[in-house]
Amino acid sequence: MPEKDTDKKIRKTSKLCNVGYDIRGPVSDEAIRMDREGIPIISLNTGNPPEFGIFAPDEIEKAAIDGIRLSEAYTNSYGLPEAIEAIRKYSISKGIAGVTGEDIFTGNGVSELISIALQALIENGDEILIPTPDYPLWTSVSTLCGAKAVHYLCDEQAGWLPDLDDIRKKINSGTKAIVVINPNNPTGALYPKEHLLELLEIARQHDLIVFSDEIYDRLVMDDLEHHSCAALAPDLLVVTFNGLSKSHMTPGFRCGWMYISGAKERAKDYVEGIRMLSSMRLCANVLAQSVIKTALDNAYCAAPLLKPGGRIYEQREFIYRRINEIPGLSSVKPKAAFYLFPKIDVKKFGIVSDEQFVLDFLHDHRVLMTHGKGFNWPGVDHFRIVYLPEIDILSDIADRMDEFLKDYRQS
Ligand code: PLP
Repeated sequence: MPEKDTDKKIRKTSKLCNVGYDIRGPVSDEAIRMDREGIPIISLNTGNPPEFGIFAPDEIEKAAIDGIRLSEAYTNSYGLPEAIEAIRKYSISKGIAGVTGEDIFTGNGVSELISIALQALIENGDEILIPTPDYPLWTSVSTLCGAKAVHYLCDEQAGWLPDLDDIRKKINSGTKAIVVINPNNPTGALYPKEHLLELLEIARQHDLIVFSDEIYDRLVMDDLEHHSCAALAPDLLVVTFNGLSKSHMTPGFRCGWMYISGAKERAKDYVEGIRMLSSMRLCANVLAQSVIKTALDNAYCAAPLLKPGGRIYEQREFIYRRINEIPGLSSVKPKAAFYLFPKIDVKKFGIVSDEQFVLDFLHDHRVLMTHGKGFNWPGVDHFRIVYLPEIDILSDIADRMDEFLKDYRQS
């Protein structure tokens, strides 16, 4: 018998090299450590409405209670038939033609479906176009699956719209798909129809699959309209992602779905792969699925929060104005979701590390935020604020930031 080498280190897989998720990364771990030591922290690292007293509508809670007995059993891998039907009708309401029950998959949040959709597709070395800044799960999962995540620029000067020339420049014969996050996390941008049509034309010319993450589509302000990629490009293979975490304030339910539309005939084998992966995880959380019909029958329940006088709208107005008043900070006004992605004057503060910036702010003022690199932003000049807390708390946070920056110098 060979002697046991008890000193041999057990290592994580090399597949996790270059995979990160800084929204819950080292700075967030430090906040957890401080919290355990009894130092109260305001956590602004995740878009988690119930944490700030924005709860699911009563009908959703009632539907969950009513659905509990039905939810004790597994469902088939697609999901509860009544949920699938409600999602199908939702796709029609978004102007998308031809989505059938077999094109819809429910998941434990959009997060799980991003994994399934990418795992079923990617071969080692494939290139996936992903926005920068991005919701970082797209980059992490693509990398984990063996793809090369190629980031296309969203242009702050242009209200954070995707830079179409940059997209064109980054396409080559290995590019397989493009990810569109609209409305966008972390910038709060909402893409106009004309801009999306141009982007989709590029996808058409280069035969790219479109992954359209639309989880914030019901959190749009200023009477603007959200346009689904799948509705604008019925000829392309589009996988659309959505769920109840944000629109119905139930992120803990882990309730999401995706549907496949457009060039489905060509994608039968790919969809078979999705079906197989969905089956391997048996089914999505059934209790969460049991509220989908109620949620989508009442699809715009967040609307009062998004109008003048509504909480999210007024919080946006406040934080946008207040952050722009702080010397050295500036921000584009978000149009949707509940995030602001301010720019820091790096010269003024000698910033060399955005992660150090948010860590220093956490240590000095006990507020947790996420640095721009956490969203795969190439510079050190941004950070993200989740503006879900009520105005008195946001005001306190902005005052702390103002104070912090008065004599802050990194180098
Ligand atoms: N997509 C985007 C753009 C997000 O911002 C988030 C969460 O913040 C997700 C997907 C994941 O959502 P879910 O809670 O459905 O997993």
